[in-house]
Amino acid sequence: MQTQHIISSCRKAFIVGAMIVPLTACQTVKTTQSGAVGVDRQQRMSVSAQTIEKSANKQYAQVMAEASKKDKLNADTAQYARVKTIADRLIKQTPAFRPDALNWQWEVNVLTSGEVNAWCMPGGKIAVYSGLIEKLNITDDELAAVMGHEIAHALREHSRERASEQAIADVGITILATVAGLGQLGQRGMEYAYQGLLGLPNSREHETEADRIGVELAARAGYDPRAAINLWQKMGQIGGKEQPKFMSTHPPRADRVKDLTRYSQKVLPLYEQAKARG
Ligand SMILES: [Zn+2]
Repeated sequence: MQTQHIISSCRKAFIVGAMIVPLTACQTVKTTQSGAVGVDRQQRMSVSAQTIEKSANKQYAQVMAEASKKDKLNADTAQYARVKTIADRLIKQTPAFRPDALNWQWEVNVLTSGEVNAWCMPGGKIAVYSGLIEKLNITDDELAAVMGHEIAHALREHSRERASEQAIADVGITILATVAGLGQLGQRGMEYAYQGLLGLPNSREHETEADRIGVELAARAGYDPRAAINLWQKMGQIGGKEQPKFMSTHPPRADRVKDLTRYSQKVLPLYEQAKARG
């Protein structure tokens, strides 16, 4: 991942007894340009992009190797081709938010699994589960909505931000690591990165940003941004024991449909232009 626009950097100091310990170097950054949807919140990072990326690459390779061993990796050629085509069209539009993303080592894979799930790790490592496609009887526009949303999380580096928040919150451990030396701090950073990448629910703020950037990416790629509304309604209809895995990492919100309606309308002209271009 390339460097993003750094707005300011700071060094924190914490007092331990009578001793002042210089601590985590933190930076306030803008990971993305604001786009037509106007996402412009500044983010504070204390874990490096390299740490997160290294961790993501490792985890992604592990998941894919395991799936491959069980013949569950891109098993349905037509399904894979469909997902890859949509992903490629979305990726092409990422410079609207961050020009460096075109240089990322993007990967797209379809996993054979009953789970209704999809994610994009930092640096552009995408996974779509066949359960998402089959159980939702998903359309191309809706697939673009899911992938657009997930790609948006990666562009905004939400995992890195979450890992940074945890590192900052856990002052005790950070002090210990600082006192013990940089080696341990690096190791600790690695652990935070792991926690941040998979499985934890996204915050409301991160979800809103991913929704808004997601509809714009879809619209620019020529997919109907209004499909995002339908998608979340379909997700919500799978209830009971079948609660989609996706819903635990993307907690449903009462105001999501309202926000998606507003922002998908806002980017509708981009969709019309993309369609006109063919
Ligand atoms: Zn999300």
